[in-house]
This record gives sequence, structure tokens and C-alpha cells, in this order.
Amino acid sequence: DTPLHELDPAVAAALGAELERQQSTLEMIASENFAPVAVMEAQGSVLTNKYAEGYPGRRYYGGCEHVDVVEQIAVDRLKELFGAEYANVQPHSGASANQAALFALAQPGDTVLGLDLAHGGHLTHGMRLNFSGKQFDVVAYHVDTETGLVDMAELEKLAREHRPKVIIAGWSAYPRQLDFAEFRRIADEAGAYLWVDMAHFAGLVAAGLHPNPVPHADVVTSTTHKTLGGPRGGIILARSKDFAKKLNSSVFPGFQGGPLEHVIAAKAVSFKVAASEEFRERQRRTVEGARILAERLTAADAREAGVNVLSGGTDVHLILVDLRESELDGRQAEDRLHEVGITVNRNAVPNDPRPPMVTSGLRIGTPALATRGFEAEDFAEVADIIADTLKPSYDAEGLKARVKALADKHPLYAGLTK
Ligand code: PLP
Repeated sequence: DTPLHELDPAVAAALGAELERQQSTLEMIASENFAPVAVMEAQGSVLTNKYAEGYPGRRYYGGCEHVDVVEQIAVDRLKELFGAEYANVQPHSGASANQAALFALAQPGDTVLGLDLAHGGHLTHGMRLNFSGKQFDVVAYHVDTETGLVDMAELEKLAREHRPKVIIAGWSAYPRQLDFAEFRRIADEAGAYLWVDMAHFAGLVAAGLHPNPVPHADVVTSTTHKTLGGPRGGIILARSKDFAKKLNSSVFPGFQGGPLEHVIAAKAVSFKVAASEEFRERQRRTVEGARILAERLTAADAREAGVNVLSGGTDVHLILVDLRESELDGRQAEDRLHEVGITVNRNAVPNDPRPPMVTSGLRIGTPALATRGFEAEDFAEVADIIADTLKPSYDAEGLKARVKALADKHPLYAGLTK
């Protein structure tokens, strides 16, 4: 029972340094969040030792009586949270959930329609180096480059022309809500299944701040670690049990072996949290924070520095910053914000003139700071720090001090030791 710092000081030191980084900087990567200590406690539990191939009540291993309880709690809470009749909590990640979902709905070689990666889609929605792009015949739809909104007329045209087996609605970098009823209509007309990937906005859905895709889609997938605020992982949901057998067998034995029951325990805890009033209040601050960022970064002086906000605002937990008129490219802007203590990621803008490793944009999200307790006035200060950092001349030391003041105001994981 040697503690980690004695058994493996090198790994312990890196973990301590990461805790320090998370505490002292402002995390604004839109896909990240801070899991509650109780979630990490469940994830770091003895359940990591247990094999449990199969599903609750139908396992291929003995000794599953307690993991069965945990997994059933997770499934029941998840169904309740999103009003679904079917839920699978075993996918190891969002990409694994997507792989299982796509293979349950379609065969290799079938046509699928997904949002272009360069326009905000995800790798698993048909990128050419991903399983989805390699094994399926992918047709991409886009956002309108004027409005920044998904071009539903193009989607309808492509659906009519290509008659896809599956239409994928969902995104990794898009600041607005999708019209799921319209996606459903287009899918029905084309004879396609509708799969919604709500990985990014699931927490907003759980809080009632974003339309729920479950009633509209045949299958819904998600991650559990972004706005939902749980451990890293994936889930699959469906409004009916029609696809239950196919989805279950696609996850196991189709793509996975033993489920990560320690992570499933952590998922169960996070679903309990997600059903609470405290969580809804946090999601409200998340969306409000993103709106404040959008407003302040469209103000005159930010525009003078060449900073624009794609689609002119946001309805969700992130904004997309367009730097095409700035003297900074995406990488330089990301580095400069990193220098003052704000972590974001560079992101391509639609029809980006620069290569994907450089880009002309930033994706900036508010979930992690909202979890830290940030209120409207704090988000206004962060927005101003970002705007000041992206100006041609900037005072790095002064900006670092402003970042530190905000980090100190909202301590993170105060009870954890390095
Ligand atoms: N789906 C969407 C829309 C995502 O944005 C992501 C992650 O960024 C994923 C799926 C994949 O999740 P994971 O990184 O857990 O595989």
C-alpha cells in the first residue's frame, strides 16, 4: 500500500504540477471542465479491478453483483436525465460511442452526411483519416460563410441527391443551436436515420437550456466530460428501444471488451449532480458567460484589433473568434493567451486561408470557469483580459496579474494536496 509519491515520485510530481496548472490558470478550452472530487473518487476506486463483460444481469464473469448495481444506477439516471428509453453507459470515450452508433445504424460503404470538420464537425463525423471517413461514403454539409449558421438548404439538397443512410447532427465548434425538428424532417424525407452527437452541449440539454435531441433522433451519443462535467467517457441514448439490441452488441462485443466500471461509477455520480439545481444554475452561468464574451469581443476596440466573433454571438457555452483581420494567426493568439495564463485552442474558421496547424481562429469556452464559480462580472473581466491580450501592444505582466486575481478569487480543488 505504498502511496504514489513514494512508489512513483516522477508520476506524482507531474500530477502535482498539473493540479497546480489547473488551479493557477484560467481554463477556457470549450471541451474541458472540472469533475467534482466525488466523481474522481469514484473513478479512482476498486472498481478498476473488476472485469464485467456483458450488461447488468447478463455478465460473462462472476462477482459482478456490485458493479451491476452501479451500472444500473448509471443507466437509470441517464435515461431519466434526458427522457430516453434506452441508454448505454459503457463506451470508453465519445469517439467509441460514435463508432458503435454508426456501425449500429449503417454498414461500411453506406453514405453518411456529416458537418465538415473544417466547419465545426468532429473527426468521427466523416474525416478522411478517421474510421468514419475511411469506411463510409461521406458527404459533408457546411455552414454558410456569411452567417456562420449551418446551411440547412444545402443539407436538404445533399440529402435528396445522395439519399444517405445516416444524417449526423452535432458539432465540436459551433456557437449556435441546431434545429433538430428540421433535421428530422430532412432525414425522413431522404429515408435516413438521424444520429445526434450532443457531446458538447449535453450539459445544457440536461439543464433545460438547449433543445433536447432525444425526442427527434434515432440515436444520440455524447461525451460525459464536457459541459456534462463528469469523468472522461462516452454514452449512447435512444428515445425508444428499437435499436437497443444493435447498439448494445455494437458496443460489446462489437468494439469493446470489459467496460470501465470505475468510470461508469463516476458517470453515475455525475448524472446525479447533473439533475441538481446547483448544476442548472452553473449551466446558466456557463451560457451567460459565453454571451458576455461574445458581446465584449464584438465591442469597438476588439474589432479595431481585428477580432470578430463568428455568427455574431452565441447560444451555447462557447464562442468562435475570427482573426482573419488581426495581425495574429490562431497559433500566435493561442500562445499569447497561454503566456498570460488563459488556455484556449486555436480553431479553423470556415474556408480558413491558413493550414489546420495554424488556423485563423480561436474556440473559447466557459464551462470550466463556470464550474469554478465565475459570475457575470468575472466573465466580463476575462473577456476584457482576452481583448487586451490580443491587441497589437499588450502588457503581459499586468495581464498575468489580472488572471491571477481571478484564479485566486475562485479557488479550485482547495482540498486536494499536491
Ligand atoms: N463528438 C464530438 C462532437 C466531440 O466534440 C468530441 C470530442 O471533442 C467527441 C465526439 C469525441 O470524444 P472523445 O474525445 O471522448 O473521444
